[in-house]
Amino acid sequence: MTVLRAGLATDIGRARHTNEDRAAAGDTLFAVADGMGGARGGEVAARLAIETLQAAYARNPTIAGLREAFVAANAAIWEQSLRVDGLRGMGTTLTAAGLTVGADGRDVIGLANVGDSRAYLMSGGTVRQITADHSLAEERVRHGEMTEAEAEVHPHRHILTRALGVAPEVDVDLWELHVHTGDRLLLCSDGLTNEVGVDQIAQVLRSVRDPRKAARALVDRANAHGGSDNVTVVVVDVLVGEEGSSEPSSVARVAAAPAGPVGPAPAPPALVPPASGGGPGPSPERPPEVTSMTAAVTAGAPEAVRAGGVAVIAPAPAAPPRPVPPRPGGRELAPPPREPRRERRRRLGVPRRVTLRVVLFFLVLLAVPAGAVAVVRWYAMDNWYVAIDRGNLAVYQGRPGGFLGFEPRLVDLSTVTTSEVLPFRLAALRRTVSEPTLIAAEHYIANLHQEYVAQRVSAPMTGL
Ligand code: MG
Repeated sequence: MTVLRAGLATDIGRARHTNEDRAAAGDTLFAVADGMGGARGGEVAARLAIETLQAAYARNPTIAGLREAFVAANAAIWEQSLRVDGLRGMGTTLTAAGLTVGADGRDVIGLANVGDSRAYLMSGGTVRQITADHSLAEERVRHGEMTEAEAEVHPHRHILTRALGVAPEVDVDLWELHVHTGDRLLLCSDGLTNEVGVDQIAQVLRSVRDPRKAARALVDRANAHGGSDNVTVVVVDVLVGEEGSSEPSSVARVAAAPAGPVGPAPAPPALVPPASGGGPGPSPERPPEVTSMTAAVTAGAPEAVRAGGVAVIAPAPAAPPRPVPPRPGGRELAPPPREPRRERRRRLGVPRRVTLRVVLFFLVLLAVPAGAVAVVRWYAMDNWYVAIDRGNLAVYQGRPGGFLGFEPRLVDLSTVTTSEVLPFRLAALRRTVSEPTLIAAEHYIANLHQEYVAQRVSAPMTGL
């Protein structure tokens, strides 16, 4: 049975206004996330990473489950960034260690990493960096284009080549650690490693026994050296390690991608030899074996690396990433080619949003024919005329014969008949006589009738 005890410390640093680091230190799961992205993006991404990791790993606390938890965290951040405009482009690093059971039935620690937060393992007083930074500078070191010393001061050292939540898929580096009593694991954000050298980190890990005090001491060191970034540290002690096996396995398991050919051995990760005087706990006589499991989703064939007593199977190096000029003082992500936003949303099944522009478009679409109908109706009906209806004079509203489907309607059938108007008026009445208003039309009929009456009265006097 393995018993762990952890200490966690995090600090905003001396230069930042917010702390975008998040961390977790439970009984069996430990993690550090360093968020990035404008506005609240960094905080949201780091928090989502930690919460999703904890929930997913609780459901499946295995090595494979750890990888799945990273994939789930990546998806959660990615989908959130698509849904919320203010969170577009957010991402985070994530380094996590979970206690679980290996294939041989012994307790092991699964270790997973994406980004440039780091994990170190101290065993027998020797401190060894386990993770490899996914940063532009470190990629160039791995490709032989730059030395470690050049990378430490290179302006591109903050540019990430891999992070959670910036693409639909993510490659996860995964290791299986067989630890022993007295070992000590360190997880930290780059706010520590950019300020404090590995030799000073090792000195603190060896000299401060309590993991909480050790974590705090490392944070204090980072701030004492400038504290230019948020700094977060988790120190995990192996109080009781797995007993029994004295023969370390060279390779525990390889997940997902098949093993590739054994390649040349590059320089090992930072290694600090034990200082005289011993460490905080009993030192095992043999170093723990560290076995990497690649969890590549899209990477090519892995390559095997041997460095001292450490066997590492890591993904084959990808093509050198595209350099992107960094923002002063900030961290960047070297952007991969991105598919159009509309395509990504369609592929992920994100519902299309109804924007104000879409609403206005449809309103205009409906308003144009409605307006045209209104104009035609106004023209067709804004007219009155006098005509003969079954022998009587009548007033109609509309255009004689109708106009574009709008037929005239009878509004006033007078009592004046065609025999009560002068005969020479009948020709005009048969063609219809237009008037500007209903009253004018009615007056016209009345005038015709008066004209006829006046003619009838005067005819006997004139002898007509
Ligand atoms: Mg940072």
